[in-house]
Amino acid sequence: MLTSIKDRSVVVTGGSKGIGRGIARVFAAQGAKVMIAGRGEDAAKAAVAEIRDAGGTAEYHLCDVSDWEAVQGLVDATVKAFGGLDIMCANAGAFPQTKMVDMDPSEWDQVLATNLKSSFLCVKACIPVFEKAGKGRVILTSSITGPVTGFPGWTHYGASKSGQLGFLKTAAMELARYGVTINAVMPGNIYTEGLQDLGEDYLKTMAASIPLKRLGAVEDIGNAALFFASDEAGYITGQTIIVDGGQILPESVEAIEEM
Ligand code: NAP
Repeated sequence: MLTSIKDRSVVVTGGSKGIGRGIARVFAAQGAKVMIAGRGEDAAKAAVAEIRDAGGTAEYHLCDVSDWEAVQGLVDATVKAFGGLDIMCANAGAFPQTKMVDMDPSEWDQVLATNLKSSFLCVKACIPVFEKAGKGRVILTSSITGPVTGFPGWTHYGASKSGQLGFLKTAAMELARYGVTINAVMPGNIYTEGLQDLGEDYLKTMAASIPLKRLGAVEDIGNAALFFASDEAGYITGQTIIVDGGQILPESVEAIEEM
């Protein structure tokens, strides 16, 4: 049993959909006050309503995480709403799938800005608040794609997700003086609303290639983030955890068939 994080103030970027919505639900279920950030208002409102209906505390703030002023606005709005900011879950991300031969360089810039520059902006914006409090937690959502695996169409995405881990190491050193830890969760294939369109057959094939024989649930990532945010994880910084049901383990198709 981890020490309660009740009443802690948490930002979840991309908390309106998918993994971020799961992270937001997990933190809210533990009594944390959750600020959901995204660009689309309908999804953000729905995520807040879901948490409130379950008895939790949530607000939303619309912002583009690749925009410095918008991210500063998010941190200010959170401090105003909840009286502080204890935990930043920098989770928002985009993953258009385009092979290099077809990729306009502007798409590369867009993905790097949304996935990587945003990590820097979210952390930088929190520093004054964390410095004042003498503590704070940052949890990045990276991926296995990039740091560990490759997938055609995702050169930009893979670079951004590996880049987050490069950022993490030095950020951990710079943040230590404020009593702040920063760690990253690296999800494998996680089942989100966005995957529903791919169809039952595709999802079955994906699950078959994972040793635990299912796609991850968004709560699987939320629980790992919750651990990094806990008092018990206070001496862990600059580290990563892969949450993938063993997806990266098989060295060949035969290895999976042998199971
Ligand atoms: P998703 O369902 O598409 O949700 C993405 C979230 O990010 C939405 O709330 C979206 O809201 C928000 N967002 C996107 N661009 C944004 C921007 N520029 N500014 C602010 N918010 C933005 O995606 P997901 O699958 O949950 O992915 C979440 C994170 O997990 C990403 O970092 C992704 O790389 C990582 N990940 C996912 C998987 C997986 O299997 N799903 C695996 C590995 C890693 P708006 O569109 O309204 O802004």
